[in-house]
Amino acid sequence: MEKSRVIELDQTCYMPLFTRYPIVLSHGEGPYVYDTAGKKYLDFLAGIAVNALGHGHPRLVEAIADQAKKMIHCSNLYYTEGQAQLAQKLVQLSGLDKVFLANSGAEANEGAIKLARKYAKRISQDKVQIITAEHSFHGRTLATVTATAQPKYQHGYEPLPGGFRYVPYNDIDALATVMSEKTAAVMLEAIQGEGGVNIPDQGYLSQVRALCDKYQALLILDEVQCGMGRTGKMFAYQHEGVKPDIVTMAKGLGGGMPIGAVLGTNQVVQAFSPGDHGSTFGGNPLACAAAIAVLAVMEEEKLPENAQKIGQYMMAALEGLKPKYPQLIQTVRGQGLMIGVKLHKPGKDIVNAALDAGALINCTNGDVLRFVPPLNIRVQHVDELIAILEKVLTKA
Ligand code: PMP
Repeated sequence: MEKSRVIELDQTCYMPLFTRYPIVLSHGEGPYVYDTAGKKYLDFLAGIAVNALGHGHPRLVEAIADQAKKMIHCSNLYYTEGQAQLAQKLVQLSGLDKVFLANSGAEANEGAIKLARKYAKRISQDKVQIITAEHSFHGRTLATVTATAQPKYQHGYEPLPGGFRYVPYNDIDALATVMSEKTAAVMLEAIQGEGGVNIPDQGYLSQVRALCDKYQALLILDEVQCGMGRTGKMFAYQHEGVKPDIVTMAKGLGGGMPIGAVLGTNQVVQAFSPGDHGSTFGGNPLACAAAIAVLAVMEEEKLPENAQKIGQYMMAALEGLKPKYPQLIQTVRGQGLMIGVKLHKPGKDIVNAALDAGALINCTNGDVLRFVPPLNIRVQHVDELIAILEKVLTKA
């Protein structure tokens, strides 16, 4: 199909929800994707932190193909080996006790919110408050968009579910002021992604943990974007050694296959009884096979360590650009391969110019260039990206 025809069909038949870039993607290999005209792009967006192994990793492709031949789907009314195996693996990696498998980050967070409410009601019927952070992002369902403390995502969807309160991120005093016996849970990203790659101060999460303990409130950590090895450890909260009560994950977990997960401690998950929550597709054999392969490759190829190492190299390279473009670059921040460059102006034009020059990146929170590439990239890919950025920034 001609590119113009694809775009025309999409614009006629698809809901007008995305501001898409004017290219039609066709396939990918490693950290590269190709459009239908054959143009090659270095993919430092990776489906927004999804393609953890890059594109077409043979282990992932094989696992999906093998499982597809055996069985793609069955009901959660029956046991499957893959689901049990994946559950065990996620429990081991996270340090929590039990898992529920969903299909996306939003669905995982929705499950986390429901679980927290059920649990807190056992303590007191009016313990319903859920506190989230300004500039957070937790999803697009009605409860998760309410947890997402950014008016632009909520506008027009009122009435929103009640009981949510917002506090500035990384501000323990603000949180302490709002918390009370009525607080059921505090829900945070260990590093904020959509909000502009915001890294809290060392000690912040531990202090949040202590406040939660004081008020018998649960700590829910959303690791949908910062988890799965991206920041140098399997989960970002592990940098500080904090133990959450509930953790959610998605994105990188399936390496591109849709899958999400909620994990909780035994104490918390006993609030759930059969029938309290569920999903038709969540934890289906195909998605589980993909996630098992992703986790095996992450371990064998030491991808969290690689993310740490290459991330450091990339941060240093970006820092090196700062004195060359002081009128453009304000700060470079990140951990592992979750990196943001805060600009002095909106980043839209730079993202468009990078696309022309052969790199997929994006801009979040208006003026933060975001880099969340596959976790198996090498130094040469960072050098390639920096060369493209130099070209683009010189003209910006
Ligand atoms: N939580 C965080 C931290 C996210 O970054 C996102 C997606 N950007 C979500 C939740 C929602 O995930 P999904 O789009 O898979 O529903």
